[in-house]
Amino acid sequence: MRAEIAILGGGCAGLSLAHALATADSARAVVVVERRTQYDEDRTWCGWAIEPHAFASCVRRRWDRWRVSTAEAQHEIAAGTIAYESVGAGAFYATALASVDASPAVTLLAGAAVADVAELDACSVVTLNDGRRIEAQWVIDTLPRRRELTYPWMWQSFVGFELEAPEAGAGDVPDLMDFRVPQADGVTFLYVIPFARDRALFELTRFAPQRTPKRELERALRVELALRFPRGYRIVRREHADLPMSPADRRVAGRRIPAGIAGGAMRPATGFAFHAIQRWASRCAADLVAGRSPHAAAMHPGLLWMDRVFMSVVRDDPQHAPELYARLFARTSPDALVRFLAGAPRVSDVADVAGALPIGRFTRAAARSIVA
Ligand SMILES: Cc1cc2nc3c(=O)[nH]c(=O)nc-3n(C[C@H](O)[C@H](O)[C@H](O)COP(=O)(O)OP(=O)(O)OC[C@H]3O[C@@H](n4cnc5c(N)ncnc54)[C@H](O)[C@@H]3O)c2cc1C
Repeated sequence: MRAEIAILGGGCAGLSLAHALATADSARAVVVVERRTQYDEDRTWCGWAIEPHAFASCVRRRWDRWRVSTAEAQHEIAAGTIAYESVGAGAFYATALASVDASPAVTLLAGAAVADVAELDACSVVTLNDGRRIEAQWVIDTLPRRRELTYPWMWQSFVGFELEAPEAGAGDVPDLMDFRVPQADGVTFLYVIPFARDRALFELTRFAPQRTPKRELERALRVELALRFPRGYRIVRREHADLPMSPADRRVAGRRIPAGIAGGAMRPATGFAFHAIQRWASRCAADLVAGRSPHAAAMHPGLLWMDRVFMSVVRDDPQHAPELYARLFARTSPDALVRFLAGAPRVSDVADVAGALPIGRFTRAAARSIVA
């Protein structure tokens, strides 16, 4: 089989690019190789859309307030011009798959796993586990990589239940970080996304040097939920993740462009990736349609260094992390912080964020990171 573009992995990044190419009405032949045979409502993508994206019709809810809570204080923050939004995976997959299905140029090979990719002079050859081969001019590689994390990077592990219970979503303000939960190794918080008065997503999240076992997080989540809903609750959906809060190896090898989490779309210090993937997909599709080399996501080295310093402060002193995050959200202007977290800050945003953090602790960590 021949294609101009082979997209390896039809998850968030792969399908975002496939959707952008399918709806661009381009004649370029695209093949998406995806291991799964069926798509489920397996996650909810939340974040801030700092620019319009192709999946606006899949947004479940938007909020113009959010909260960060510590044992000492609750900070409710009013949005500036950028709302927090939630995109359901079910609607995202259905939209992308419909446009792929309608496009004569884009083919999805579902239930097919990539076994090998070889770089030849004139093309790349992708071999599937059933022996089929695809010769492609460009390979966009979103396949997850095995990662070992070194200091100061950490795993973000979470278990989430979307549930129904009276008043589960009362107040209608997302809790981005509620640190009023027992702290074990690392930094633990509850994340709550209210969808309706009686429906919300509750996630118990931990940042730690090692992945936290799913069972342990689930047990802790159930303890929290029993306290909040002594009369019980009904779980309607579950989520689980171990996200590497670390830079990806984004080396572009010849015609093989890494993308998605594997390409560094996730800002190491945050775990947010969905909206960065949308910005990348739109630029990458425009490049491919115009016959240019495809855009590879790139994070500014200065921001990466700031993430390294921030993560080293959190990892060295997890007890003070709640206070750090609270300061960051409470003392930075919301739009500046949102652009910063999205990896697209203005110079003044960086100054705003730096001004919110305890200068002594960060100067010492910055000095150590330069020496190292
Ligand atoms: C439960 C969960 C919740 C999340 N919530 C948020 C959030 O709220 N906000 C946010 O910004 N980010 C969130 N993320 C992080 C990130 O946005 C997602 O992980 C996102 O799906 C990453 O996109 P991706 O394309 O890199 O990887 P994926 O979407 O995982 O896509 C990779 C694809 O490759 C396929 N694949 C793997 N191996 C092979 C193979 N050998 N051959 C063929 N196909 C293969 C997989 O089946 C998968 O479909 C969340 C992640 C998870 C897991």
